[in-house]
Amino acid sequence: MDFYGGAPGAYGDEFAAVAYPNIRQQMHDIIFGSLDIPAQGQPIILREFHDVFCPACWSPDQGGSKDLNCVYCGGEGYEFTERMLTMALFAGVAPVYKPAILGTGQYPLSQYGDNDPNRYTGFTEWTTWLDYDRFTLPKNKTSDKLYQVKVDGVGRAVYNSTTGQPVRAAKWKILSVTPIRGDNAQVSYFELGLIKESVS
Ligand SMILES: [Zn+2]
Repeated sequence: MDFYGGAPGAYGDEFAAVAYPNIRQQMHDIIFGSLDIPAQGQPIILREFHDVFCPACWSPDQGGSKDLNCVYCGGEGYEFTERMLTMALFAGVAPVYKPAILGTGQYPLSQYGDNDPNRYTGFTEWTTWLDYDRFTLPKNKTSDKLYQVKVDGVGRAVYNSTTGQPVRAAKWKILSVTPIRGDNAQVSYFELGLIKESVS
């Protein structure tokens, strides 16, 4: 194994090649922070849908209907599971040429006017989806979603003392999940195309 070369983010940059033998490690440092990089990650609830209609409210009538006030599925119409992760979210559409661009907060498309305030780009570690082909071969009936979690002054998730659940602050629909390949064609991280929804 060659620790000192082969990382696309490190081409032409000998220091980066030594500091980041692996793009997975580089993205980990961007999300969780390191000596050189303030952490860009925040607590995120990932809501992943199953291709199973909500047993409480879904009806085949009229081509399929659901109850927007259903207490079981929250009006989604499908069953889902949720997990809490740390991801980096940035306003705007960010084509990433290399992960280091993230640290600058500058997005190449913004100079062309593509700065819709509802569009966000998310970055999550390669471990988030080991079965990512469910996205590259889209067959799910509905998109997964993300919730931003309210944080305190030092960035920790705020929990509702009555329910014990994290407090949800904003909601996005995941429009795209792109596995970004790096060293030896392994998936190094995922880039998420996001659009804001109202919080429910
Ligand atoms: Zn339901």
